Amino acid sequence: MNAQRISKVINKTMEIGRQQISLGNVATYIPELGKARKDALGLCISLPDGTVYKAGDTNIRFTIQSISKVISLCKALELRGAETVFSHVGMEPSGEAFNSIVELDLQSNRPFNPMINSGAIAVESTIIDYVSFEEMLEYTQRLCSDSGITLNRQVYHSEMNSCDRNRAIAYLLKSKDIITTNVDNSIELYTKMCSLNVTAESLANFALLLANGGICPGSGERLLKEETVRIVLSIMLTCGMYDGSGRFAVEVGVPTKSGVGGGLMAPVYGRCGIGIYGPSLDQKGNCIAGCEMMKHLSREMCLHMFQERQSG
Ligand code: GLN
Repeated sequence: MNAQRISKVINKTMEIGRQQISLGNVATYIPELGKARKDALGLCISLPDGTVYKAGDTNIRFTIQSISKVISLCKALELRGAETVFSHVGMEPSGEAFNSIVELDLQSNRPFNPMINSGAIAVESTIIDYVSFEEMLEYTQRLCSDSGITLNRQVYHSEMNSCDRNRAIAYLLKSKDIITTNVDNSIELYTKMCSLNVTAESLANFALLLANGGICPGSGERLLKEETVRIVLSIMLTCGMYDGSGRFAVEVGVPTKSGVGGGLMAPVYGRCGIGIYGPSLDQKGNCIAGCEMMKHLSREMCLHMFQERQSG
């Protein structure tokens, strides 16, 4: 696809996204997130040859929220190994909301997967004694090729004052011996990771790294093991959009992770990294514009993993 055609597709994609914004709402259960500009919208597509396509609000900083679950999972897999990590958390879709607690007690001994709150808090508990928040921040900057990523203290404190549900989840996990380390430290690390300020461009960079099998396309340096990338992308495909993951896989066919700050991070394996920002969310907590934009991009650029790529 030539540059002119891609620019045309991007313009149309932005138009489709804008039409969705009024149908969703900005998250307010973390009060500080409610201050986001609802009509903000940014799209960034990064290619392995260094080409970056940007449209709209690609430089606005917003909190990464659940997309940090992917980063923590990468770190846990690399530090502790898959066997240890998956003795604390499963790898199956939950079919429930991201902050659900009921099925955790009724149906399972372990959280269903690392992409929902319970699973991510369990993942944090496996690394808490091995890595500091400062190291995780630096790791995030490296994976996103963005040294400007910092902790958003307002959002962090806002969430720490309103995260009773996550605390309840963490203590339930402790009662089941899934968390054996300090519960408060796990919640603190989890919440800090959710409160990192990124841009659509940083998410596109991280997506490109994953799409490139863990090797930084610019430097040629391997930042993630092949096995880590394989596990993470598979779990993103089946669980990354919470209880909307199945439909999204059918309609878009690209492993994608969302966050309630409005971010979407989508690695198109072997091809490109996509980052989207739009804080207006659908009922499931996914960026409402981003979902339609990903559908359009998938169709127009033949991104679906089970679709032949056409030339032209
Ligand atoms: N920090 C948020 C929470 O724990 C992350 C949720 C999300 O992005 N879906 O609720």
